[in-house]
Amino acid sequence: KDVKPETKAKAPAPVSDVKISSRDRVIFPEAKATKGDLADYYAAVAPVMLPHLARRPASLVRCPQGRAKQCFFQKHDSGSFGPHVHHVPIEEKDGGVEDYLYVEDADGILACVQMGTIEFHGWGSHVDTLEQPDRMVFDLDPDEGLDFADVKKAAADLKRQLADIGLVSFAMLSGGKGIHVVVPLDPGHSWDAHKDFAKRFAEAMSLAEPDRFVATMSKAKRKGKIFIDWLRNQRGSTAIMPYSARARAGAPVAVPIDWDGLAAIDSARHWTIADARALLDRAASPTLKGWGFARQTLPAI
Ligand code: ATP
Ligand code: MN
Ligand code: MN
Repeated sequence: KDVKPETKAKAPAPVSDVKISSRDRVIFPEAKATKGDLADYYAAVAPVMLPHLARRPASLVRCPQGRAKQCFFQKHDSGSFGPHVHHVPIEEKDGGVEDYLYVEDADGILACVQMGTIEFHGWGSHVDTLEQPDRMVFDLDPDEGLDFADVKKAAADLKRQLADIGLVSFAMLSGGKGIHVVVPLDPGHSWDAHKDFAKRFAEAMSLAEPDRFVATMSKAKRKGKIFIDWLRNQRGSTAIMPYSARARAGAPVAVPIDWDGLAAIDSARHWTIADARALLDRAASPTLKGWGFARQTLPAI
């Protein structure tokens, strides 16, 4: 056979054909990071982000003029995102039906970035099984004055208690102040069961150690404690998705972490959008393989 030698290396297929305008616009003044930097970050991490984000109804934090200017939380489709951002009609509490957004590929992520998105938040269920949650998250919110070491200890305690009832869990740095403890679940149970379980688990933790944990939203009761925010687990609530950037100073990102690796971390904002390469290497390492995935069902309580 006549095989022609390649004259030059084949250019890799672009991850997205979405055009990013105003690449030089500064989005993170403290980090001096631009919209182009943010788009490049998302293009790089899309392959490790999509297994978590794809096909979940998404809410976006959009800051078209940058994080220091006005930002807004967008749940509904305004119809201006183009063909890569999809809609799903969802019945809301009041009986009305609204179109929610979701993405399923790098184009979808980048189309959102083009529209000024910094943060991607996701539902605890997928569009195909909307009424069957498959991700429980305990959002650990430390009161001001607590150290990150206290949050790490709290996360490890939750992990242990969850393991005692047969549930595997995973830790994620929020990119802000806290840690999210994530429990993947097979779809099948209802939102009511999901929320009820999360509430009872958080309340049991705070009953056992009332000096450390609180499970109610009331600010007054949170002094010096860690709020185990279980309210992320209601139908319609969202949580920040793995590898999402945060609209906070320094351009931090939400990062999956293995339980052993957590010990060496001293802040929830350890990585930023400048760290795409390191995050991809970490994601491919044996300690993070399978992070966020487990076949398990909600135990009866
Ligand atoms: P931190 O570690 O700093 O607490 P976080 O992402 O956990 O970071 P929280 O303030 O605890 O931030 O919020 C928890 C979740 O609530 C967010 O991840 C997000 O999905 C949701 N949320 C935040 N802002 C809004 C908003 N304006 N409207 C609706 N939901 C929101
Ligand atoms: Mn939080
Ligand atoms: Mn919270």
